[in-house]
Amino acid sequence: MIIANWKANGDFESNKVWCNRFIERMSSIGSKSIGIAPSHLHFNQIKSDLKDHDIEIGFQDIDIEGGARTGSISPSMAIDSNISFCLIGHSERREIFNEDNNYISKKYQALTKHNIKPILCIGESYKEFQAGKTEKKLQSQIEKCILGKTIQENLIIAYEPIWAIGTGNTPKPKDVNTIHEFIKDVVQSASEKNLRPKVLYGGSVNKLNAPDFFVEKNIDGALIGGASLDANVFSDIIEIFSRHKEK
Ligand code: PEP
Repeated sequence: MIIANWKANGDFESNKVWCNRFIERMSSIGSKSIGIAPSHLHFNQIKSDLKDHDIEIGFQDIDIEGGARTGSISPSMAIDSNISFCLIGHSERREIFNEDNNYISKKYQALTKHNIKPILCIGESYKEFQAGKTEKKLQSQIEKCILGKTIQENLIIAYEPIWAIGTGNTPKPKDVNTIHEFIKDVVQSASEKNLRPKVLYGGSVNKLNAPDFFVEKNIDGALIGGASLDANVFSDIIEIFSRHKEK
């Protein structure tokens, strides 16, 4: 699956142009595993503009419950909006909004309760990467966020090294492949049903480096920030994904 994370970008006019261009491109590509996470404000616009196409529209984040929580979007609002998936634990939420694993675990449980597909983002800092602590960090994030809870069959993990997000730096695709295998093993060994989740890579994916990632067996797709803001570039990446993983 390829997911666009638009973060706090977009406006009604440029979104319309994006969707029109994307629809034109998709008619020749025809991939079936595409997701878009626009801002909450633009969710209905994108859902409506892409309604005739097989594209999942989701949220970038969610709160754990509704009620007296000013500024929040609750899980039942998400259900009401008919969302297809929801990101949780993005490093920007962890860093800027001080979300810790305990809080992310509550979000995970809220999604599970409402049967919404969770995309759990995990990743290490550059310091942890340099110190060889990547796997330890990822294991701890997985354990604290989802282990001991119901593991949903449609759970997706997004491995996003913090130092690769928006920087133009990426780990080597072969190393990412090994890390993804590790992530799958950790989740599988905790899953009563022996589930092996899909694992997406995120962090400075573009149309030039995409083929090197998608050729790897355990890289099941990508979560894409900056490069998803241009409909042509995003379509190029989907075309590459489709060539490697859907044929
Ligand atoms: C992201 O923020 O999830 C991301 C992967 O961003 P970028 O592609 O811009 O590195």
